[in-house]
Order: sequence, then C-alpha cells, then structure tokens
Amino acid sequence: MERIATIADHTRQPTTLMLCQGCHTQFIQRHGNQRYCSPRCQARSTHQRYRETHRAVLRARTQASRQRAKERSHHDEQSRERQ
Ligand SMILES: [Zn+2]
Repeated sequence: MERIATIADHTRQPTTLMLCQGCHTQFIQRHGNQRYCSPRCQARSTHQRYRETHRAVLRARTQASRQRAKERSHHDEQSRERQ
C-alpha cells in the first residue's frame, strides 16, 4: 500500500489519496483498508492473485493429465499392434 498524500475534504475529516493496487489509479480512500478504487477492481485483482497463486498447481495438474493421455494413447497403439 502506497500512501501518496493526506488531504482534507469539506467535512474536515482527513482523507487519504491512495494508489489502487489493481489498476494503479489514484483514488480517495473512504474507509480504512480500502486498497482498490472500486469493488469491481478489487474483485478483478483478487481473482488475478488467486490465479497466480494456483498457477503452479494448475500447471502440474495439466502436465499430469497430458502424461496420462500420452500413456493411454501409447497403450492403444500397443493393443492395435497385437490385433
Ligand atoms: Zn482500480
């Protein structure tokens, strides 16, 4: 989280200008812990982070299923040769 500046709006309550962690757009933080300019941006960013975290798992799964398919096709070739 990068704090750019603290400004005061007309309500005289301190308002913090933040940099959105999703699209890197400046926005005014309206409540504590707000890190994204909009709920949509937060949802998109959360989804991206989920994919990045699980990319290694997904890749391993894809390789395992490819390996199984390879073994299956190899087995089919062998059974064809016997016929
Ligand atoms: Zn954003």
